[in-house]
Amino acid sequence: MAKKLVIIGWGFGGLRTFYNLAWNKNFEITLIDPRKKSSMKPALPEVAFDGKDVEHTRFDLRSVIEWHGARFINEAVSKIDAENNKLSTDKGTEVSYDYLVVAAWAKKDFGAIKGLEENAYSMCDDVHAPKLWEAIKNFKWGKISIGSAKSSWGTRVDIPDWVAPCEGPIGEAMFMTDNLLREKWIRDKAEINVFTPGDIFFEDVWDDARWAVGGLMGQRNISLSMNKVTKEVTDKAVKFEDGTEFESDLTIMIPVYIGQQFLIDSWIGDEKWFLPTDKGMRHLDYKNIFGAGDLNAITMPKLGHLAVMEADIVSAQLRKEVGENVTIPEYKPEVLCIMGMLKNEAAIVYTDVKLGWKTDMVWYGKWQGLTKKMFDLYNIKTNGKMPPKFGEHMFKKAIKAFWAGKK
Ligand SMILES: Cc1cc2nc3c(=O)[nH]c(=O)nc-3n(C[C@H](O)[C@H](O)[C@H](O)COP(=O)(O)OP(=O)(O)OC[C@H]3O[C@@H](n4cnc5c(N)ncnc54)[C@H](O)[C@@H]3O)c2cc1C
Repeated sequence: MAKKLVIIGWGFGGLRTFYNLAWNKNFEITLIDPRKKSSMKPALPEVAFDGKDVEHTRFDLRSVIEWHGARFINEAVSKIDAENNKLSTDKGTEVSYDYLVVAAWAKKDFGAIKGLEENAYSMCDDVHAPKLWEAIKNFKWGKISIGSAKSSWGTRVDIPDWVAPCEGPIGEAMFMTDNLLREKWIRDKAEINVFTPGDIFFEDVWDDARWAVGGLMGQRNISLSMNKVTKEVTDKAVKFEDGTEFESDLTIMIPVYIGQQFLIDSWIGDEKWFLPTDKGMRHLDYKNIFGAGDLNAITMPKLGHLAVMEADIVSAQLRKEVGENVTIPEYKPEVLCIMGMLKNEAAIVYTDVKLGWKTDMVWYGKWQGLTKKMFDLYNIKTNGKMPPKFGEHMFKKAIKAFWAGKK
């Protein structure tokens, strides 16, 4: 008899798990998500800094899920009863499961820092990104501050001690802002000041990549300050815990990341409300609960690329559970992302040195910009699918070959 598989969340981690197992007769799948449409977050900087219609980053998946023979519940999970293998939603629906995959997002806690929600802008979700576009398109002169709030993580799993979830969107924000101001011929009327709560900017990359980004920042007259932990944002300043402040006419921030209340209410989260799993993505205490994506405590940095990698491990684990002969992929975290920069340019960042391996490269240009556009389009047109594994493998090989050629 098919096993009841429930997937919470239809973002990168949830959808990858779903598509991996959708036609597998060993599973009867239920997907739960409160959103009417899924959101393609890596495309949000184009909404925030280039005025792209936010609807182009959203896609409705109910019919796709149902066409695959699965059930979709358009509600938010509010409690998991892990002892009895069932969960309930905010609307009171109860669902039982044999296996549960938690792939809901980490909460972006805009309220954690005084004044941030009211006085700062963000490209981090599809509600805030269009508001940022309204603000930046009307910007005429003054000081722009761009940075991350400090986040902290639980202690049940062993992860790097980094204080920002991922500073890629900060990189996109500073270069795209610079570009926009140049296009409007007002770059000389603006200062762009970037700050990070870390000892170094881009904690997850090594020196080659960091120097390359630093060099570009220098060329574009973008300043950088380290160890700036935001305490408060007002309409005219960003105030830091060390007593200093930046004057700021426009503040753009990544807020604090925290896990989800429902994990704490269900006694299955860590101190920071994330889901603690081992490297096989299995919950440390409940062997039929798995995690994939930002809400998984082990995911560091918080990247869609890792959510997908984890979902592949989860899918293999589940297939093995039902008796299939599969090899479970090893978890080898790495950063692989395409950071939008100028109008048609982007940087491919591919690095894993800080995660225990040896690759570290950043390479920018026009074809990288085209690759980003093609990737976003592919993801949206295929209803949230990622390019095939073989394609990713060849892509990485090509980057390594071309990068070596460039050096
Ligand atoms: C501006 C920006 C640019 C980025 N660029 C890149 C990039 O270039 N490359 C990259 O790898 N990563 C990038 N990221 C990071 C990437 O978007 C995230 O790491 C990724 O979306 C995480 O996937 P996920 O499946 O964990 O969560 P999400 O994709 O956020 O999806 C989670 C889903 O869970 C649902 N959910 C939430 N709460 C509940 C609940 N209680 N019950 C049921 N469902 C729930 C949500 O509605 C949502 O649909 C970027 C992020 C941002 C903000």
